[in-house]
Amino acid sequence: CPQVQRALQALTISLDMLWEVKERMQRDMRKGLSRDTHAEANVRMLPTYICSTPDGSEKGDFLVVELCQTHVRTLWVTLLGDGNQSPQVMYKIFEMPEHITQGKGEELFDFIAQCVREFLAGISSPQENIPLGFVFPFTCRQTQLDKAELVAWSKGFRCSDVEGKDVVQLLQAAIKKQELYHVDVVALMNDTVGTMMTCNVAGKPCEVALIVGEQWAPCMPRGWFLGGAGAQPPLLPAGSGTNSCFMAEAEQVEMAEESSGRMCVNTEWGYFGDNGTLNDILTPYDQHVDEESSNPKEKRFEKMVGSLYLGEIVRHALIALAAEKVLFLESSIAALKTKDVLKTQQVLEIIKNEDGMAEAKRALEALGLRPTERDCCRVQQLCRAVVSRAATLCAAGLAAILSHMCQSRELERLVVNVGVDGDLYHGHTRFGEILQSVTGLLAPDCIATLLPSKDGTGRGAAMVTAVALRLATQRREVNGLLAPLRLSRADLERIQGLMRREMELGLGRETNANSSVRMLPTYVCGTPDGTERGDFLALDLGGTNFRVLVVRVGQDSIRMASEIYVIPTTIMQGTGEALFDHIIDCIIDFQLKQELMEEVLPLGFTFSFPCQQLGLDKAVLLTWTKGFSASGCVGQDVVQLLRQAAQRKQHFGLKVVAVVNDTVGTMMSCGYEDPKCEIGLIVGTGTNACYMEETKNVGTVEGEQGRMCINMEWGAFGDNGCLDDFFTGFDVLVDENTINRGKQRFEKLISGMYLGEIVRHILLALVKKELLFRGKSCDKLRTKDIFQTKFLSSIETDGLGLRQVQAILQDLELQASFEDCVLVREVCQAVSLRAAQLCAAGLAAVVEKMRENRGLDQLAVTVGVDGTLYKMHPNFSQHLQQTLQDLAPNCNVTFLLSEDGSGKGAALVAAVACRGSEP
Ligand code: ADP
Ligand code: MG
Repeated sequence: CPQVQRALQALTISLDMLWEVKERMQRDMRKGLSRDTHAEANVRMLPTYICSTPDGSEKGDFLVVELCQTHVRTLWVTLLGDGNQSPQVMYKIFEMPEHITQGKGEELFDFIAQCVREFLAGISSPQENIPLGFVFPFTCRQTQLDKAELVAWSKGFRCSDVEGKDVVQLLQAAIKKQELYHVDVVALMNDTVGTMMTCNVAGKPCEVALIVGEQWAPCMPRGWFLGGAGAQPPLLPAGSGTNSCFMAEAEQVEMAEESSGRMCVNTEWGYFGDNGTLNDILTPYDQHVDEESSNPKEKRFEKMVGSLYLGEIVRHALIALAAEKVLFLESSIAALKTKDVLKTQQVLEIIKNEDGMAEAKRALEALGLRPTERDCCRVQQLCRAVVSRAATLCAAGLAAILSHMCQSRELERLVVNVGVDGDLYHGHTRFGEILQSVTGLLAPDCIATLLPSKDGTGRGAAMVTAVALRLATQRREVNGLLAPLRLSRADLERIQGLMRREMELGLGRETNANSSVRMLPTYVCGTPDGTERGDFLALDLGGTNFRVLVVRVGQDSIRMASEIYVIPTTIMQGTGEALFDHIIDCIIDFQLKQELMEEVLPLGFTFSFPCQQLGLDKAVLLTWTKGFSASGCVGQDVVQLLRQAAQRKQHFGLKVVAVVNDTVGTMMSCGYEDPKCEIGLIVGTGTNACYMEETKNVGTVEGEQGRMCINMEWGAFGDNGCLDDFFTGFDVLVDENTINRGKQRFEKLISGMYLGEIVRHILLALVKKELLFRGKSCDKLRTKDIFQTKFLSSIETDGLGLRQVQAILQDLELQASFEDCVLVREVCQAVSLRAAQLCAAGLAAVVEKMRENRGLDQLAVTVGVDGTLYKMHPNFSQHLQQTLQDLAPNCNVTFLLSEDGSGKGAALVAAVACRGSEP
């Protein structure tokens, strides 16, 4: 029959068209997420402020209040912390007098609060405080989990004085009025979210939820219903026609201010198509259904998918076909013209394979029709077409969500669980099959597992409340744990003051011994003036690598060649003779390679350990740091040790003219480019600084004229106890596990050798408190130095996404959930921020002293900086500069990155030294 064929065709959407629908949905979703276009979007993408899904550890008693069309439902849910395997639920349903929905807002909330009181009267709980989750299925402008302004009533509600107000506050106030002081409204939610929350499978969170058709609330065993003896729970239509929600990347939810982690977004996709986007697939039957509905031109998508409407679509198709004389030739169709006489439930019965035909006959006869066998067959075909169309459209919407998630998480393949609720899905396996297979076709890069949800609104609301509570408790504990690492402005000023005091002590001849900051004279009295020329050898010892260099200082440029040599730990921590012999071997190897054996070049030796310098080429090692401990060196002149080794090795072509610290080298090499560079800073394996001090202030050196570079050795700041207030338990642990316990305490808060260790100890503490990795102990994380400082850089880099974090943790055999990653990032941020701020407090003391030395109101100065941590960390330099600006507002400080300061700088010191002596 061509007419029937035409009707069926109109109700069938081709795969190409479904792709198109999916793409339109994705476009609308993006529009809803963006701040600029949110207001005009049909798919509103409302933020829910639910930033986590249940992890199974949720525990306790929770109260849920759900406002339904004609009832208020209260639930008492007990979660046992057992992975939510067996939540216990009791509930009660209160009929709501109709006048309440039309009267004053206050009366509505008073009524709800009275229901709560009556319900609680029959329940005993050991808990002092009872958290309440409020299911409020109206459009709200939510700004927090417990803050939501009602935008507009719908579903026949018209209470005065509620629109524009915070409904959480209204409920809380009404509950207080009932003297229920122990009940706290902690979360407000829409009904979709609950579905997502109840579908979590252990270890595999459910991150998408769909509602298709009505959710009939009490799907729970009768015994849980507290309605009095023999009472039957009424069936409550709880859900909307169709809607969905999913966990979106928080930074993309522009309407909410969260920027890290994820947030559940309520798509409100029922409104999809209201601006005409679906017009090319609408049939005349859809148009009739819309015209007869209470909200014409609204919720066009829902009217094709929601179970409220499927019966109606079939009814209009039947009317049209009867008018074309291809159906019900022998009867009057008058009864068919009444709205809602054909229920969706009947449509679902009709399409069943076994009794479908009989059901069709029965349903049609009930309408006074006398259907033939053929009529029944055609009716069944039409019903199938309408239900299938709903399923395919739903699949297009789901595919849009999945692809959006997959793209925004930058995944090649998304594997995800999807909770589904609603009578279309539960009542009809074919719907689920179509949904699953078409979704697979439209989102081939995603693997979605559909999970049926039962009573998502009730139990789910309890889960949301529980999760909110869990997050709040965890937040408090995390804040408590990290609090000692967070430095206030006053703390930083105190540290700056302490550094200043230690500097003064260190400079004074009598007080020097009492200072933790040694303030060592370097005998470097000038920075380069640009007239330096010649070829030099340089050694760089004291960093991660030992290097030998040749530096050729010409008129316009400096050219360098270098080799990196390994110093094995056995040599670093062996005898001094072996160490210096090894160094000479490396020099000889280098000279051979560079064909420099015949020349005697001046040599600058960058030796980055604290030395008492007695002249430019005379430096007594005070103590080893940074993992070195070679014996027989402390108390010796390192130039002498080098010369003795040369002698042992019969190498007579060495002319050591200067020993410099790497800070000095850095300052010198930057000074070659910028004459204002009078400070050197290192933030690499260790940390240290030097600056140009007035010679007259240096009590440990004779002379009143000019300036001398002071190697502060600030890494030891605090070794005399002056920073004890600021050390956290984690810092103490890190220190206890080093070879120089109690030494270099400031350095151990700041530099690359230690930041990863601090983070590692914090992570272990978080695991122990079950705040991380679900409390699972992880042996690899107990290994010293396994968490490298360079991880902080990758983890904190914006835009790399949390997959990066997950990958790093995976390498450490840690199975990190999304929230674990967010927390690990927070820990890294706290540790690196503190390091940068401490460094800034130290520098503030230096620049302020220089400014005062020179009697200036404003000082403009440049800091030459070296060190991989400073250079590679994404935020360190910015935090350092901001804090310094804040602490020393009268100093205008520029930072100049040194390129190989320790190599070039040593040569330049040698060059400056030779400037006077050679022609
Ligand atoms: P040194 O100070 O020994 O001369 P570097 O300046 O290269 O050497 O610093 C080495 C330190 O930098 C190491 O302790 C390491 O932890 C740290 N580091 C290496 N890569 C990075 C990175 N990408 N981000 C932050 N720190 C890093
Ligand atoms: Mg270095």
